[in-house]
Amino acid sequence: MRAISKVAEAYKRDRRIQPAFRPHGALVCDQRVLSWKGPDRVSILTLHGRERIPVVMTGYQQALLDRIRGQADLNYRNGQFFLAVVVDVPEPPPIQPTDWLGGDLGLINIAADSDRTVYSGQHLKALRARHARLRQRLQKTGTKSAKRLLKKRRRKEARFATDVNHRIAKQLVTQAQGTRRGIALEDLTGIRDRMTVSKAQRRRQHSWAFHQLRRFIEYKARLAGVPVTLVDPRNTSRTCPQCGLIDKHNRPDQAHFRCIGCGFARPADTTAARNIASRAAVNQPQAAGGSA
Ligand SMILES: [Zn+2]
Repeated sequence: MRAISKVAEAYKRDRRIQPAFRPHGALVCDQRVLSWKGPDRVSILTLHGRERIPVVMTGYQQALLDRIRGQADLNYRNGQFFLAVVVDVPEPPPIQPTDWLGGDLGLINIAADSDRTVYSGQHLKALRARHARLRQRLQKTGTKSAKRLLKKRRRKEARFATDVNHRIAKQLVTQAQGTRRGIALEDLTGIRDRMTVSKAQRRRQHSWAFHQLRRFIEYKARLAGVPVTLVDPRNTSRTCPQCGLIDKHNRPDQAHFRCIGCGFARPADTTAARNIASRAAVNQPQAAGGSA
C-alpha cells in the first residue's frame, strides 16, 4: 500500500521521469499504517501484518506525545530507523517587551548579544578546519571509500553545527524571556546588493548554518512568546554607541571596536549587538518602557 502511494506521489511531482527508489528510502506512514501505543511502543502495519515495535524517545519528546498530528515519516540511516513526526505546539501570545536584547550573528563569533555575552564557535571552527583539510586529502585520492568517508564527515559536521545553533538560540531566547525583552536582529533582506558588506561576511551569510541560527532563534522565540524585531543593518558595526560617531576607522580590525572620536573600546561584535538593540528601541519606543 505504501509502495503504491509512494510511486503515485513521485509521478504526481513529475510524470516524465521514471523514478528509482532506494531500498530503505523514507516511508510516509499515515494513521492507518502507524499508531502510537504509549511512549515506548509503536504499532506498524508491515508486510507480515501488524507489529509492535519498541521506540526510544527523550523526556522532552514524551511530553509532546499527545500533540502528535497526522502522519509520520519513517527514515533509515546508518543502521537505525527514525520516526519523524509533526507535533502541534501552542504558541503563547507574545509578551509586551520592556526593552530589546540585540543579537549580532557574526564572523568572529557565531553570535554576540548586547549584554556582552559572546557565543563562541571556536570548537565548531576547529572541527570545520580539520574537516576541510581532510576533505582536501580525500578529494585528491577520489576513491569510492574516500567519497563515502567524505559524506560521513559532512554529515557529522552538519549535525554538530545544528546542535551548536540550537544551544545558542535557546540561550539567547531564555535570556530575553527571563528579562522580559524582545530580540532584535539585523534585517538582512537585500544585503547581497550592498557594497559595504565585506567578502567574508557575505560568505558567512550565504552559509546554511548562519541562516539556520536565525531560523532557530525566530521559532524558539515564537514558542517562548518573545517578539523578534528586525532593524536596519547599515553601519551597526561602525557606529559608536557612546557618542554616535559613524566611521569605518572605528573598526581597526575584524575583532575590535575603538571609537576615533571618544575612545570607547569594546569587542566589535558585542558593540554591533548593542547598536542593534538601541535601533530596535528607537523603532519601537512603546516597547522601551516609559511611554507604554
Ligand atoms: Zn565614540
